[in-house]
Amino acid sequence: MEQINLHHELKKYFGFSEFKGLQERVIKSIIANEDTFVIMPTGGGKSLCYQLPALIKEGTAIVVSPLIALMKNQVDAIRNISEHEGVAHVLNSSLNKTQVKQVKEDISNGITKLLYVAPESLTKPEYIDFLKDENISFLAIDEAHCISEWGHDFRPEYRNLKNIIERIGDDIPIIGLTATATPKVQEDILKNLRIPNANTFKASFNRPNLYYEIRPKTEEVDSDIIKFVKKNSGKSGIIYCLSRKRVQQLSQTLQVNGIKAVPYHAGLDAKTRSKHQDMFLMEDIDVVVATIAFGMGIDKPDVRFVIHNDIPKSIESYYQETGRAGRDGGEGHCIAYYNHKDIEKLEKFMSGKPIAEQEIGHALLQDVVAFAESSISRRKYILHYFGEEFDTETGEGGDMDDNVRYPKTKKEAKEDVQL
Ligand code: ADP
Ligand code: MG
Repeated sequence: MEQINLHHELKKYFGFSEFKGLQERVIKSIIANEDTFVIMPTGGGKSLCYQLPALIKEGTAIVVSPLIALMKNQVDAIRNISEHEGVAHVLNSSLNKTQVKQVKEDISNGITKLLYVAPESLTKPEYIDFLKDENISFLAIDEAHCISEWGHDFRPEYRNLKNIIERIGDDIPIIGLTATATPKVQEDILKNLRIPNANTFKASFNRPNLYYEIRPKTEEVDSDIIKFVKKNSGKSGIIYCLSRKRVQQLSQTLQVNGIKAVPYHAGLDAKTRSKHQDMFLMEDIDVVVATIAFGMGIDKPDVRFVIHNDIPKSIESYYQETGRAGRDGGEGHCIAYYNHKDIEKLEKFMSGKPIAEQEIGHALLQDVVAFAESSISRRKYILHYFGEEFDTETGEGGDMDDNVRYPKTKKEAKEDVQL
């Protein structure tokens, strides 16, 4: 194979001088036509791992991704760095006949390097029949945890991907990418995509600049939050609540107390939501009080605190949500209020669901309980949960949690959480 200067290509297409973390090794694996599995935290730079090889290689790379908005963003970004509009396309149900024809032409002519498709579009026989006669460089499955019921965003249509891929071509290299680091989800991904021998690249999930803290949830939670936010006035923060009602109520309470806060949840109309999001990004306000509807794809580097008014339903969610703090490497204070009663509430929410789902939900919750009630290092617990051992000697952020900084006796810890 001809020698490719990857740094040169990186600079040429993306303007970056260095690869981030494991990117270069991942890209080499993809260029060598190997099945590849990438596990990197959000913001780690997973997109570039498949975009750069797609641009370099002959043929078209198919990228499966669950969110149309994110696909469109990526297509726009890629088009910006290329001379030809057709370098990237999205194939979905919103295209008319003429547009579909154009996409097909660009693929057949070797112009399209990246073809983004939602998994449900890829099942269309018309597309499968077309794609199986084209030169496909590889197939990348972004957000691959959607394959697993153990992930936080299970999508049944992801389960069928492997069968479709095989109909398109039986020797197309498969690339799976996810920010979910739990061993169960990883196993599911490799099994479902039937790539047991994929080259696997896993980045560290340690976030040394985040301070983790669990506080007992009492009647005082409102005043406790107000006190904290006021002490950090002028800093940006997100406060997550389980219910829309609580979001409304808490954001009002904060406003009444002179804090610049706005609510965000899926019950607000799209205009209000995007206005509130912009106000947060532009720093017209300091705090967004939100349900988990807020956050996906939000890239504000200087979020200084993430507060959980209610404990999340899995360690995975907790990690993703707290992970929105301190993206710039600066301070990130993560506080979660915990009361065992909330766990019972979460259990109740699940009671109408299919048994298998309930069992998974219950198991995930048990880990949350163990985490919240534990008196060992929060960081160690999280990393262990993700199958990673925290290195006490050299590991960064070793003293960045309440349990390490203010060790409690077991009895104290128990009394605390039972308030
Ligand atoms: P992920 O999908 O892993 O969450 P993204 O692919 O969205 O991460 O990338 C996160 C950010 O990192 C983007 O703003 C991207 O431009 C940037 N990025 C990626 N690779 C590099 C690099 N080699 N050098 C500098 N910035 C990078
Ligand atoms: Mg991504």
